[in-house]
Amino acid sequence: MIRQDGFNYEFDSSKCDECGGKCCTGESGYIWISEDEIRSLGEYLGYKPELIKEIFLEKFDNKYSIKEKPYQNGWACIFFDEKNKNCSIYEYRPKQCRTFPFWEHFKKNYKELERECIGVRQL
Ligand code: SF4
Repeated sequence: MIRQDGFNYEFDSSKCDECGGKCCTGESGYIWISEDEIRSLGEYLGYKPELIKEIFLEKFDNKYSIKEKPYQNGWACIFFDEKNKNCSIYEYRPKQCRTFPFWEHFKKNYKELERECIGVRQL
């Protein structure tokens, strides 16, 4: 079980295996990725950062978000592996994904988190 200061819930990451990737699919949303993360991802995939941006990202003002694709009745991150139901760039996923489910937003929206993640339990 993982706990983090300031959060009134804990997270069991072993549940990710049975979940099917709810945090990477469902409603459309932003998946922010920084310039450093784009560079690292580019090195991993063998593409220059500019090509990563062109193929996989969308620009909003001066920030980048990972593109989504239609999936079931909603959307999935473009890096969501539909066959294995997990992240195809796991080691290079952005901070937003690494820090899930410990987001400020969920401190006040636990019910929403509960619908999205079977691995959390309120303390
Ligand atoms: S980058 Fe990986 S962990 Fe993040 S939303 Fe996409 S598939 Fe999920």
